[in-house]
Amino acid sequence: MAAKGKIKIDQGLCKACELCITVCPDEAICLSDSLNDKGYHPAEYVKEPCRGCALCAVMCPEVAIEVYRG
Ligand code: SF4
Ligand code: SF4
Repeated sequence: MAAKGKIKIDQGLCKACELCITVCPDEAICLSDSLNDKGYHPAEYVKEPCRGCALCAVMCPEVAIEVYRG
C-alpha cells in the first residue's frame, strides 16, 4: 500500500447507491444499519486508514465523500 488516507462521508447526502462500495479496493465502506433523514441506509467508513485512492469520491453521484491524504 503506497499512500494512506481516510475519507469522510456526509451520511445525510447519501442515497445508498453502493457505487463507492463497489469500487473501493480496500473494502473500507459498508452500508450502515441506521437510516438517514432521506430513509436510506447510508454508506459508512469502516476501515481507517485506507489507501486514499479517491475512487469512492469520484464515483459518488451525490458528492457525499471527501478524501484526506497524508
Ligand atoms: S479513498 Fe479509495 S481506498 Fe479509501 S475508501 Fe475511498 S475507494 Fe476505498
Ligand atoms: S456512492 Fe455516494 S450516494 Fe452512493 S452509497 Fe456511496 S456515499 Fe452513498
